[in-house]
Amino acid sequence: MKDTSKHQGLRNQLATILIAKGIVDANVLNAIRKIPRHLFIDSSFENHAYQDKAFPIAAEQTISQPYTVAFQSQTLEIKSGDKVLEIGTGSGYQTAVLLELKAEVYSIERQQELFKRTSLFLPKIGYKPKKFIFGDGYIGLKEQAPFDKIIVTAGAPFVPNPLLAQLKIGGKLLIPVGDKTQIMTLFIRKSAKEFEKHELGDFAFVPMLEEKN
Ligand code: SAH
Repeated sequence: MKDTSKHQGLRNQLATILIAKGIVDANVLNAIRKIPRHLFIDSSFENHAYQDKAFPIAAEQTISQPYTVAFQSQTLEIKSGDKVLEIGTGSGYQTAVLLELKAEVYSIERQQELFKRTSLFLPKIGYKPKKFIFGDGYIGLKEQAPFDKIIVTAGAPFVPNPLLAQLKIGGKLLIPVGDKTQIMTLFIRKSAKEFEKHELGDFAFVPMLEEKN
């Protein structure tokens, strides 16, 4: 597990590409410049790790495209100390970005293989969420609710009510909604019963799976 100045150079280039695509949050860009993404993917893709692309990881899943990770992180306006629920740990790359933004992260993954692998790997390179959970993102994490922010990193066929219910007043849920492609949708909780909804463009995610293995 090596990180070199060549990797650093490629990360700086990736940050420049993300700026050109509209990412402006300096903390998010610094996280992209810092996190060794090549360690999160299979070594056969290492040479491509700093392209703005998604790649296959284990269990037929993907590491999200850097632009998507940056966009979701920037949109949620993560602040130091925010209590954040992440649905879809996957490779842990988005988790690492949230931790660089100094969030307190609870991350749920429904595939055992990825849960095991990533919960061992991330702490090894210095990223320690509050908790990795092997579970089902559709039900959220009631025992730790309410959250400042909830981020879903798989395509949801509908918006799960428990996720809305587990937001603080003023909290934000960012979730890609749809089947083949998804509309990135932001919900802001205005009061116990009122949510503001914003649709933020089309994205493509692997589907959010309904049943546990
Ligand atoms: N943020 C991750 C994205 C991984 S892809 C990364 O950048 O690596 C989406 C992830 O969501 C996959 O790991 C998939 O197994 C997981 N997932 C799918 N359905 C889920 C569910 N119902 N609950 C929790 N995780 C789920």
